[in-house]
Amino acid sequence: MSHSLVTMSYIVATILFIFSLSGLSNQETARRGNYYGMLGMAIAILATALSVSVTSYTILIVALLIGGAIGARAALKVEMTQMPELVAIMHSLVGMAAVLVGYANFMDTSATLTGVEKTIHEVEIYIGILIGAVTFSGSVIAFGKLSERISGKPMLLPGRHWFNLALLIASIVLGGMFLQETETGGGSLPLWIMTGIALVFGIHMVMAIGGADMPVVVSMLNSYSGWAAAATGFMLSNDLLIVTGALVGSSGAILSYIMCRAMNRNFISVIAGGFGTSGGEAAVVEGEVTPINAEETAQLLLDAKNIMIIPGYGMAVAQAQHTVNEITKLLRDKGKKVGFGIHPVAGRMPGHMNVLLAEAKVPYDIVYEMDEINDDWAHVDVSIVIGANDIVNPSALDDPNSPIAGMPVLECWKGETTIVLKRSMASGYAGVGNPLFVLENTRMLFGDANATMQAVLKALKG
Ligand code: NDP
Repeated sequence: MSHSLVTMSYIVATILFIFSLSGLSNQETARRGNYYGMLGMAIAILATALSVSVTSYTILIVALLIGGAIGARAALKVEMTQMPELVAIMHSLVGMAAVLVGYANFMDTSATLTGVEKTIHEVEIYIGILIGAVTFSGSVIAFGKLSERISGKPMLLPGRHWFNLALLIASIVLGGMFLQETETGGGSLPLWIMTGIALVFGIHMVMAIGGADMPVVVSMLNSYSGWAAAATGFMLSNDLLIVTGALVGSSGAILSYIMCRAMNRNFISVIAGGFGTSGGEAAVVEGEVTPINAEETAQLLLDAKNIMIIPGYGMAVAQAQHTVNEITKLLRDKGKKVGFGIHPVAGRMPGHMNVLLAEAKVPYDIVYEMDEINDDWAHVDVSIVIGANDIVNPSALDDPNSPIAGMPVLECWKGETTIVLKRSMASGYAGVGNPLFVLENTRMLFGDANATMQAVLKALKG
């Protein structure tokens, strides 16, 4: 394929990626956004594979088959609840790719660059490996935390901010040494040491982040993986990879900012780790819970006019969204006003609940963001909290010692009655007790959310 045709294809792919991002910003157009992204990626892969820069089709085809097989297997096998950890581990692969491409470039003896061009190329290699290594190790730890293989509790080393600063200064000094040594054909020692430092930094950064702040980490690593891809693009002189990486990097950064705002957190504090988690122990929840059964729940719903459903991570675990949709349809047919209140960090990845509700075909126009409904609880007769916990925890508002203090939550307790569906009194991801469960106007419907929702549906029909 000629160079100009490859460039044309890259421009088309870039436009499709931009359309894709804009489509993904709204749930009604998200499916279309995905199609644009898939088409753009297909064009990008095809144009790159057919370009003159490919020297061995055997290696390319073998790599495509191995990568494609791993991707297809992961996509077919992954449960919806494992999606966040899959995304995290995929980010780690982008980081690893940047590190490997960096080392391959460094060891490539065929490069004939001189002067400023050579220095720029070496800076690209150094920064590419640095970002790639931080992304790699940070994403592996995020994977561990999201899959609960590693505790969600923040690891707060004494003097951790100084430690981070020391790592940063060491990386800068090593960068200077690397550039000096490459003049005489060396540079591998500072590069290896910096890679080690970057790996430690990635691990330390994510280990220091408390469970409740993990949404910001997920979106931040998403952003890092974009910058790592852009760095790879610079090293490979691939314009499309630079642009795509920058798109992912900047959209991830914007998402991190949105998540921080939604959680009322300062971005720098989150990244520095442990802020808002060291104030002390959250209050222990004391009081009597009032259990309720499926029939009583059905009766409360039949007596209500205005119903708000609050889905959380437990709905994803129970895969209750289809039953919830059936109940919604039935109640709406009976003339009830039913809405869904979505907290920005509900579930385990940005937009998690929207994806589940879209999958169950819940109409978009009854799905509300937290800000749209948080002032209207006084008009809600019954709210049903389905496997949610941290996002409806009043202590976020009235316990300054809580690890989630300051995070806006769905204030469902201001409605007439709240029914909470969960299996036990266990805490949520942030590991905080929830006083909502013992409030006078709260009823606890214990059991797997899908099983209990099925029982409620049966009672509603019967
Ligand atoms: P939580 O993790 O706070 O609570 C989920 C609740 O669901 C648990 O208390 C659990 O209680 C219940 N549950 C689990 N399985 C079932 C089941 N089968 N049936 C019924 N209930 C079940 O989830 P939220 O959505 O309320 O909050 C999200 C949390 O995750 C926040 O702390 C957020 O910061 C964090 N997070 C969010 C990310 C994002 O991007 N959205 C990323 C990473 C972390 P029980 O065991 O008793 O059933």
